Amino acid sequence: MKFEKYDIIVVGAGHAGCEAAAAAANLGNRVLLVTMDLRLMASMSCNPAMGGIAKGQIVREIDAMGGCSGVVSDKTMIQFRMLNRSKGPAMWSPRCQSDKMMFSAEWRSQLERVPNLDFWQDSVDGLLFEGDKVCGVHTFMGGNVEAKAVILTNGTFLNGLIHIGEMHFPGGRMGETASYGISEQLREHGFEVKRLKTGTPVRIDGRTIDFSKLVEQPGDDEVTGFSYLPHEPIAKQRSCYIARTSLKVHEILRKGFQYSPMFAGRIQGVGPRYCPSIEDKIERFSDKDSHQLFVEPEGWTTQEYYLNGFSSSLPDYIQYEALQAIEGFEHAKIYRPGYAIEYDYFPPVQLHHSLETRLVHGLFFAGQINGTTGYEEAACQGLMAGINAHRLIHDEEPFVLSRSEAYIGVLIDDLITKGVDEPYRMFTSRAEYRILLRQDNADARLTEKSYQLGLAKEDRLQQYLKKKQVVAEIIEFLNGTSVSPDTINGFLETHGTSPIAQRAKLGYILLRPQLNLFDMIDGLEMLREKYDLSDRFVRECVQEAEILIKYDGYINKEYDLAEKLNRLDYVKLPADFDYHTLTSLSFEAREKLNKYKPETLGQASRISGISPADISVLAIFLGR
Ligand SMILES: Cc1cc2nc3c(=O)[nH]c(=O)nc-3n(C[C@H](O)[C@H](O)[C@H](O)COP(=O)(O)OP(=O)(O)OC[C@H]3O[C@@H](n4cnc5c(N)ncnc54)[C@H](O)[C@@H]3O)c2cc1C
Repeated sequence: MKFEKYDIIVVGAGHAGCEAAAAAANLGNRVLLVTMDLRLMASMSCNPAMGGIAKGQIVREIDAMGGCSGVVSDKTMIQFRMLNRSKGPAMWSPRCQSDKMMFSAEWRSQLERVPNLDFWQDSVDGLLFEGDKVCGVHTFMGGNVEAKAVILTNGTFLNGLIHIGEMHFPGGRMGETASYGISEQLREHGFEVKRLKTGTPVRIDGRTIDFSKLVEQPGDDEVTGFSYLPHEPIAKQRSCYIARTSLKVHEILRKGFQYSPMFAGRIQGVGPRYCPSIEDKIERFSDKDSHQLFVEPEGWTTQEYYLNGFSSSLPDYIQYEALQAIEGFEHAKIYRPGYAIEYDYFPPVQLHHSLETRLVHGLFFAGQINGTTGYEEAACQGLMAGINAHRLIHDEEPFVLSRSEAYIGVLIDDLITKGVDEPYRMFTSRAEYRILLRQDNADARLTEKSYQLGLAKEDRLQQYLKKKQVVAEIIEFLNGTSVSPDTINGFLETHGTSPIAQRAKLGYILLRPQLNLFDMIDGLEMLREKYDLSDRFVRECVQEAEILIKYDGYINKEYDLAEKLNRLDYVKLPADFDYHTLTSLSFEAREKLNKYKPETLGQASRISGISPADISVLAIFLGR
């Protein structure tokens, strides 16, 4: 096969690969996306959902940058919920159930509309090198394809091995072949390659579930969605359901422990601690009589349901028997059993913050291949790798987001400075500046930056600037307008808060915990006339203004802290320095600094085992 020479080749069209290809091509590069099966783009290997706690914030950030995951999620959602609504806005996390098949189809349609992007269905089995540079890939059918940069996003496919009870067989996902050649070749080039594992639950035929025995979980009344671009919310939603395991279910599952590939030691890879299999949960929390399960529809029209919380690699007949012991599933039939998969990953300390590998110039890794788990975690790495591959081949500085700018910055910094020894997923607790990294303000944090990079388009920028202006006007009005006791005391009393004795500013009154701005607009004529709450855009601006007024103190405190700590990130460390020569550093610090080669003093300070005393030594050494 005769291929043209590309700027960038993306290997794999999972969540990382799709975002990488879209970003790289939208930035004007000639891009080839090579993937094993073009029908399975951004396939949801596990649960049919996007977003969730901390992950929802990532989808909003991807969207604010001009990535596609948010738009695709909005177009294909079948249910929407804003999680953690009862907590502070730093914790609000959008999550949707997706129509799994539509999700893949919509991604494909988005990508087929991107100019400069070509597709090739094939398996990459090796990379082409020129000295210490990558210069293309070799594919199983097509042969060599040349490019200036390559982004690997192979997901769970590298030497993938599927386990169900005592049975195990090669595969990248159920029904798909594994990928061979790349790990072996890169190991020869000096890369460290390790194993991880993950698992997925049974898929059930909904026609055989007795939903009357389950607790229904409908979507929110208000569907805000993910994208900052104007879009119509879905008019109807599908419900999820809650079920529970019981001691009887646990007893049946225990019968299968002797055949478990995990307990028998046949699985060597480490699994996700925060997303354990049902057998893991029973073993680790043996005092618990029951575990909660979520029954999630896989689409608008299909009867297939996903049983969240019941991930297992026990023999299929044990999974089946245990399933039928759950209330509501007595007559359940399954489409397929749960399984576990082991795969190769490359410990991410081998990367720069741009996601380019340290060993091979022009080679980038993104997604599960870096030891992460989750669609959102993969997608945001793909976006950043796409941007940085573009910047590398145009001799531009890498684009790196800091920990105070985005969850994406937290994720990549964690990967590179701390590495992973189990599948890494994002949590709000990983971020030190949670009140800055809210789901509502990802556009304020990122859209202008992305526009300057050339990725976010004019319509996105204008949408953000319009919102910024309206929010500022609302805040100015509330902070500048005072009301008399006569106007507001009736409203205050009905909302359980004390009346005022003299005129007070509306913004000041809003600080009371019993009040929110929507109720104030509803209850006070002077505001009702001004703000039309039936307009989605106005509601979005009102929400933002309320957060900025109520949390002003916390937000400023975090900004100050972030600014102080970010200063360490401006202090560059020499790339090829041998830290063993700095004997005033602790031995552990010398070892770790030589191993991880941090690029800045800030990165060095976040490596575990490096103490503030070591940072002082480095600062003195650098003449600071
Ligand atoms: C069984 C299972 C259970 C999971 N459970 C969870 C879970 O509970 N929670 C969670 O958050 N995440 C889970 N995941 C992980 C989630 O699916 C991934 O994190 C996410 O899909 C990773 O995205 P990615 O883009 O890195 O890779 P993937 O989505 O895996 O996509 C990789 C793509 O690369 C292609 N590819 C691979 N090798 C080659 C090659 N050599 N040549 C050409 N194309 C290639 C594949 O065809 C595929 O399209 C699970 C995954 C699996 C398989």
